[in-house]
Amino acid sequence: MNPQNETAKRVVVCGGGVIGVCSAYFLAKKGAAVTLVERSAVACAASGKAAGFLALDWCDNGPVESLARASFNLHRSLAEELNGAELYGYRPLTTLSVTVTESQSSSGSGGKGLPSWVDGPAKSPSTIGTTQTTAQVHPQLFTRTLLATATEKYGVDVVVGKVDRVQAEGGRVESVVLEGGRVIDTDAVVLALGPWSGKFELLASMFRVYGMKAHSIVLEPKEPNAITPHALVLSYRSSRGGEPMDPEVYPRPTGEVYLCGMTTKEEVPDDPDQITGNPESIRVLKEVARNVSSHLKEENAQVKAEQACFLPCTDDGVPVIGEIPGLKGCYVATGHNCWGILNGPATGAALSELIVDGIATIVDLDRFSPSRFTSRKKGLII
Ligand SMILES: Cc1cc2nc3c(=O)[nH]c(=O)nc-3n(C[C@H](O)[C@H](O)[C@H](O)COP(=O)(O)OP(=O)(O)OC[C@H]3O[C@@H](n4cnc5c(N)ncnc54)[C@H](O)[C@@H]3O)c2cc1C
Repeated sequence: MNPQNETAKRVVVCGGGVIGVCSAYFLAKKGAAVTLVERSAVACAASGKAAGFLALDWCDNGPVESLARASFNLHRSLAEELNGAELYGYRPLTTLSVTVTESQSSSGSGGKGLPSWVDGPAKSPSTIGTTQTTAQVHPQLFTRTLLATATEKYGVDVVVGKVDRVQAEGGRVESVVLEGGRVIDTDAVVLALGPWSGKFELLASMFRVYGMKAHSIVLEPKEPNAITPHALVLSYRSSRGGEPMDPEVYPRPTGEVYLCGMTTKEEVPDDPDQITGNPESIRVLKEVARNVSSHLKEENAQVKAEQACFLPCTDDGVPVIGEIPGLKGCYVATGHNCWGILNGPATGAALSELIVDGIATIVDLDRFSPSRFTSRKKGLII
């Protein structure tokens, strides 16, 4: 509980991914008494296993443009405020689009326009992000650093438990009930359950959230200093044929190199700790690594992680952020798809304004309101 103010608005944030943690941070900073409930560990799922890539303008001309632009700038100011460069690997970086065709001969020590460590059969580099427009964080360290600050500085209370349901009286939220029966009384609730939103009855009765499973590996090259801060978005053709794939490669300031891709639609397991990578997808990512750079071959790099996690997706591809119609004090924030790390800060900051002040100014949240699903349903009935 926020120790400074016993009359503060009580808010229970459900879910300890980047969206729940950013909401808890900004709510507590605005003076709310926040309890965060996480069923497993903070950033145990996509928010810990994502790439952590941030882009200012890659969502331009789409519904998420204003959210993404505000959030990119918030990431920069948070990194200054929280010493993000040191604590969670925040850094601007250059981003290249590169074509790799497995069977072609290697370019040697980096072809024209390629960093020298990209010495496999990579061709046609083009700069698609500069240090002004693209950056990165280590997503697990970012989420955990933000929560540690929220706890130490603003008194956020963290509870490990599975949220079972929200209780209401007269159309207004009263409490959150955890599995096992513990009841937490509250004035407001934020449901930030990522892909598990689709398994939470209250939300699932209103709109669909499903999970797309994506894989990643983390490598630790023997010569980390050879790897420059260049993110690579690949168009990758395997020598076995098939459609080109689009894996991504992210060197981190820790000296590690993260690769992700291989997305499939699969049922989200109930328990986040049960999610494991499919061996074939992991094998392909290792093959990609060895074709991108000799520094990432088995003999030159240790495998630190082979993992998978689920992107939270909605049917219209737009996040759902706002108050649930007909249930005062109950808010949802989910469906951030492949941009949750980027869009976490603006989502949390805007929600905190909506809950504490009654209106969000940093981003207009109307476009994201869950009421778009209920009015559509009503439209069908009429
Ligand atoms: C491979 C990969 C790479 C990615 N790369 C990027 C990137 O570069 N940039 C970017 O912006 N985004 C990226 N993303 C997307 C980003 O990771 C997600 O959009 C974001 O992490 C979603 O955050 P979340 O908090 O909504 O969900 P999650 O991280 O899934 O967190 C939900 C949390 O809720 C908890 N929970 C669930 N049910 C309950 C319950 N009943 N009670 C209590 N707790 C519960 C879970 O345990 C979990 O910790 C990537 C995703 C993947 C899979």
